[in-house]
Amino acid sequence: MINQRFREEFPFFSSDQRWTYLDSAATTLKPAVLLKATSDFYCSAGSVHRSQYDLVQTQAYEAARDLVAQRFNAVSRDAVIWTSGTTYSINLVAHGLAHQVTEGDEIIISVAEHHANFIPWQQLAQHTKARLIVLPVNENYQIDPAVLLKHLNTRTKIVAFNLVSNITGTRQPVEKLIPLIRQHSGAKIMLDIAQAVCYEQIDVQQLDADFYAFSAHKMYGPTGVGVLIGNLQSLSQLRPLVFGGKMVKEISAEQLVMTELPYRLEAGTPNIAGIIGFGKVLEWFLQWDLSQLNQNLIQLAKQARLRLTAYPNVHILGNLHSSTISFAFIDQHHADVASILAEQHIAVRVGEHCAKPYLHYLQRTGTIRMSLSHYNLPEDLDRFFAGLDNALAILGD
Ligand code: PMP
Repeated sequence: MINQRFREEFPFFSSDQRWTYLDSAATTLKPAVLLKATSDFYCSAGSVHRSQYDLVQTQAYEAARDLVAQRFNAVSRDAVIWTSGTTYSINLVAHGLAHQVTEGDEIIISVAEHHANFIPWQQLAQHTKARLIVLPVNENYQIDPAVLLKHLNTRTKIVAFNLVSNITGTRQPVEKLIPLIRQHSGAKIMLDIAQAVCYEQIDVQQLDADFYAFSAHKMYGPTGVGVLIGNLQSLSQLRPLVFGGKMVKEISAEQLVMTELPYRLEAGTPNIAGIIGFGKVLEWFLQWDLSQLNQNLIQLAKQARLRLTAYPNVHILGNLHSSTISFAFIDQHHADVASILAEQHIAVRVGEHCAKPYLHYLQRTGTIRMSLSHYNLPEDLDRFFAGLDNALAILGD
């Protein structure tokens, strides 16, 4: 099976066979191709865009940008900005648009946001005296287009929400939401696509948001590398968050003339090894049949959900097709269950998942989150459920 072959690309499974990894929504495991690219880079020398001799690194670095542009159908390679992660990308946009937001303006987000797509907007609203509107989600964990519509008007400056939730794995109906925003406001639209990039072929032009943020480490890439993709007009309106080398066209004591996109927003030496490594990962990942990998993954996730539902007193959040499954037991504390799972070398995430407002809204103090990816196999589920049975037996005593 293709997923078995895919699994073989990950040294984790041969190097540490004790652990069952079910925490890919936090960060995915890394394929051998990334390890090789990183080690090759550190065995060589030089920066990028600095000298004649660093040509090889610069080419590989810019080739990674091209690959991101292709994969996401960005309008141009200049519309791909390297950052350190989703968090930085969203902060860059929130800071960069601050000059367009004034007192009485409105910023819309949803209650289902990760803190990374909540706090930057909350802080922006506080600093500018704009109003932060936090949309609820319906019984399917989705933003209701009719509810969004009620809040759209000429004062709406920014609408930001996730494409896929890190708690429930629910995908927002962006194909309905974005056209509504376009029709009824002049707002800038920011999509947090961190949880979607590994499983969906996203076409940024077709979806038609202004900005998209994600982290490479959620897509088999390294930590410390993120991407902001946008349309060129919206990106060119952003004020840089960071100033320094490589963003300068002219500089004197009196004035700064910044260079063009993407370098205007990329001051300082970037994470060269990470970005080159991510390029190699993308090249490798694009060779796999994503729909086949996804098909098997969804089957596995359905089995996981079915097996979970058989437990008494379990409460499962989210929908059937999601490979991210959050759950809690009514009579057991989530942290107790997760710590006994960890003792048995089963890696799941537990707690509030950096989305406290959403947990409160769902009236939960925390959940256990099992998140599967393309390399997981039925044997991982067997180990998980055996571990869960043990945990519940211990706690029940
Ligand atoms: N948004 C979502 C939906 C996420 O799942 C995450 C990571 N958990 C982030 C934003 C933040 O990503 P990072 O920490 O890589 O910046």
